[in-house]
Amino acid sequence: MKKSAFILILAVYFNAVSCQTSSEKKSETKKPMETSYNKSDAEWQKLLSPEQYEVLRKKGTERPGTGIYNNHFKKGFYTCAGCGTELFSSEQKFDSHCGWPSFDGELGGGDRVRKIADYSHGMIRTEIVCAKCGGHLGHIFDDGPTATGQRYCVNSLSLGFKETVNDSIQK
Ligand SMILES: [Zn+2]
Repeated sequence: MKKSAFILILAVYFNAVSCQTSSEKKSETKKPMETSYNKSDAEWQKLLSPEQYEVLRKKGTERPGTGIYNNHFKKGFYTCAGCGTELFSSEQKFDSHCGWPSFDGELGGGDRVRKIADYSHGMIRTEIVCAKCGGHLGHIFDDGPTATGQRYCVNSLSLGFKETVNDSIQK
């Protein structure tokens, strides 16, 4: 009898341990996993210039006409300044005269730029962020002049650029 009581206690003990482990696992998955490229605010501040940090991480907007890629029409790829993901090609860029780099589409199958409803500043807009690092890019509008009808209005500070030397640009 003593032995079976001992086994019972053991069973209860291990059950309790396994329950504890599974609840710990549960709380781990509850942590926000917004992107696959999580960094702390302090890490971003080290990585980015103060101006880039303000736009990418605090959803700031550069003054129109001031960005380095506004009137920039070299052949290549525009990358996320936060994580380096290629987001747009120069073939998708057009001169929108709005003061910010504008694109009529994005690279990949629509999984690189995330669209989020934005009700700030008394407007209904769609914010665009880098899907990998969550960095704020700008906004997307459906008043584009090209066949896609889309206008990705992006801050230069949110972008990097990789120039291509040949014409091997793929959309
Ligand atoms: Zn990014």
